[in-house]
Amino acid sequence: MCYELIDGFITVFEDEIETDEDFENEAIDASLFTFFHELGHALVDLYQLPITGKEEDSVDSFATIILLNVYEDDYGVLSGMFQFDVEAEEEKKALESLPFWYEHSLSSQRFYDTACLIYGND
Ligand SMILES: [Zn+2]
Repeated sequence: MCYELIDGFITVFEDEIETDEDFENEAIDASLFTFFHELGHALVDLYQLPITGKEEDSVDSFATIILLNVYEDDYGVLSGMFQFDVEAEEEKKALESLPFWYEHSLSSQRFYDTACLIYGND
């Protein structure tokens, strides 16, 4: 994971978070979400795991499920979900140029898919 990605998370959350502690937790948790997303890609490749649908969606689900099982509450995975929400707001500004064909689902789809898994976890 590159430092620019973590800088990006810091930028994403700097307007949303009020305390330094919450800010650090959000950036760390969003980084963990991405770490487990990338680990999911590695496991799919290493073990030739069969995927139904988009691999990107499958590894988002993998990251969400892992974080839901690691943390005693849902806060750890919420940062990954809120990152998608912030990105979705940016996407709304350029609807005409959104890459609907892209390997990742739209950020708003990723937000609601993650929210659905969190809700279903309860
Ligand atoms: Zn990916």
